[in-house]
Amino acid sequence: MVETLSIAVIGAPGVGKTSIIRQFIYNDFSEVYTPTRSRYVYRPSVILNGNMYELKILDIPPISSFPSSSSQEWLDLRCRGVRNANAYILVYDICCVESFEYVKMIRQQIVENREGSSNEVPILVVGNKRDLQRQRVMPRRAVSVLVKKTWKCGYVECSAKYNWHVVLLFKELLGIAVARGMRLNHTSIRLQGALQRNRCTIM
Ligand code: GDP
Repeated sequence: MVETLSIAVIGAPGVGKTSIIRQFIYNDFSEVYTPTRSRYVYRPSVILNGNMYELKILDIPPISSFPSSSSQEWLDLRCRGVRNANAYILVYDICCVESFEYVKMIRQQIVENREGSSNEVPILVVGNKRDLQRQRVMPRRAVSVLVKKTWKCGYVECSAKYNWHVVLLFKELLGIAVARGMRLNHTSIRLQGALQRNRCTIM
């Protein structure tokens, strides 16, 4: 049986959500910024530790807040499926402090508003645009300590532009999701890239 994992990718406008997803699935990057206006669903498959998983990756356009109820989610087409996602990737731009503030707000709202075991849901905070390291606005270590120690979330920095740490971040998130959600006992994880219809990216 193939397990399906739904992952919501959330972040302020222009932080690189779509670029990260498209690098992961298509090995594709565009310098041209086309704002995401509606929710888009990608359905790649991945092989993790010898098992195949179908991913449902939700590219969420900017939302002012995490939906606080099922009816609010239902009324706003942009965030359908966000409340019940199995995992979250919260993206910020390491050169933009406001985008980190946005992630901070959404993380807090996920914890407060998700039904059931909110503390168990895997959340990975991603600092994108690592290639622009010189324009970084907050020290990496301070952010990493806050996210890992205080929020108990994962933290990865990546560059969607150079496809640096993009597979790693999905591997990290899936590792946590599998360990928490599916209770699989494993010691090593091998993520062999994204498999799309007629596509196979082997790392
Ligand atoms: P979204 O609104 O969060 O989905 O952001 P996009 O993925 O559309 O990217 C916004 C802009 O940032 C685009 O012009 C991308 O080319 C650029 N961008 C995305 N990722 C990176 C990155 O890692 N480095 C740099 N330098 N630019 C990036």
